[in-house]
Amino acid sequence: MSATNLKCRECGSQYELDPIYVCETCFGPLEVVYDNRALAADIPALRRRIQGGPQNLWRYSDFLPLPDGPPGPSGRNSSRVGLAAGCTPLIRADRLAERLGLAELWVKNDAANPTHSFKDRVVSVAAARAREFGFEVLACASTGNLANSVAANAAALGLESYVFIPADLEEQKILATGVYGTNLVKVRGSYDDVNRLCVELSGERNWAFVNVNLRPYYAEGSKTLAFEIGEQLGWRTPDRIVAPVASGSLLTKIGKGFADWLELGLLDGDLPTMNGAQAAGCAPVATAWAEGRDFCQPVKPNTIAKSLAIGNPADGPYVLDLAKSTGGSVEAVSDDEIRAGIRLLAETTGVFTETAGGVTIATLAKLAERGEIGHDESVVAVITGDGLKTLDAVRGSFEAFEIEPTFEEFTTKVEGTLVGAR
Ligand SMILES: *Cc1c(COP(=O)(O)O)cnc(C)c1O
Ligand SMILES: [Zn+2]
Repeated sequence: MSATNLKCRECGSQYELDPIYVCETCFGPLEVVYDNRALAADIPALRRRIQGGPQNLWRYSDFLPLPDGPPGPSGRNSSRVGLAAGCTPLIRADRLAERLGLAELWVKNDAANPTHSFKDRVVSVAAARAREFGFEVLACASTGNLANSVAANAAALGLESYVFIPADLEEQKILATGVYGTNLVKVRGSYDDVNRLCVELSGERNWAFVNVNLRPYYAEGSKTLAFEIGEQLGWRTPDRIVAPVASGSLLTKIGKGFADWLELGLLDGDLPTMNGAQAAGCAPVATAWAEGRDFCQPVKPNTIAKSLAIGNPADGPYVLDLAKSTGGSVEAVSDDEIRAGIRLLAETTGVFTETAGGVTIATLAKLAERGEIGHDESVVAVITGDGLKTLDAVRGSFEAFEIEPTFEEFTTKVEGTLVGAR
């Protein structure tokens, strides 16, 4: 294993690789550190090894905090690793690029994961690590997608699970969680209330809360999005990434993944410009960015992008740092812009995303409109979840024809109306 320690992101204090997440000295968040110097000695061999690995995120085991390296050459050791996340499509989106006046646009479709969101990446890593620590119960505080993924991964691994969600979550996400046989707890409150309860519970129960006491390991899973994009582009970085921000972990770790691989020499290029995307109804990071602050003020969420509705984002300050140091930004878009973003992506690429993806596409459109994206840039928009999970967002956004089963009805009521409309 090349993961060596946990390290405080604020004061640099080092810790053993234990199920802990805050620094005892300064209460800063802990992060996994690696020693990959040996791997850097032969980059062509390292690339071959990755390419020969399993067709899922375990091909990047050298860069993940697992004690025993890869789970077997075929990646089929499912009793240890559960669902196989990752290796999702990177789609060239020329028609969307044309609509927005962009040159080279890619859509990273992470809705194509086992439970249809990028959360399978973080849960895979946290769950594998939880097994190594000997935990028998998996748990989480969720805005929806994490609930799906924890319940499913626990089922795949034969672990018990407790999933805590805000009671007003989308019905699709509640159904797609309960079906796995988890202990589903609907909390009357916001995500931030749910999270506070889980922080308290994690001190009282010997459970692996994937995004509380296992958070340093969980967060590492998001780096695999950067690794995959780099590998899929032919071992180079794109010029720009547009990705949604809830707690801020995803965007920061995509940046970290690129930085780590650039430093090792695995990728050509520079660190991409990082643009964070938030819903105006829950935009503590975008607001701090607009006001030039380096800290976030908590807000009460009110948006259709419930998967991003974290009013008090733990990694907000790191998102602000990263946006600044890469020449990017953090933007906010309205619920109507989110709905339009979902439709625009669907109509130009055939990819149907949930509200979080609408936030990403609306932000991309806004940046393009402002002329902030250069004409020679390669841009990757990160689509993090599936549209079937938030169907209400598109309800009423189009009309269908309803006719009797006759030729006459078709020509008058369908073709007739279409001609008339022209
Ligand atoms: C959780 C989530 C995010 C962002 O997560 P972070 O808390 O910022 O890491 C983005 N999109 C979707 C669909 C999510 O479920
Ligand atoms: Zn510290």
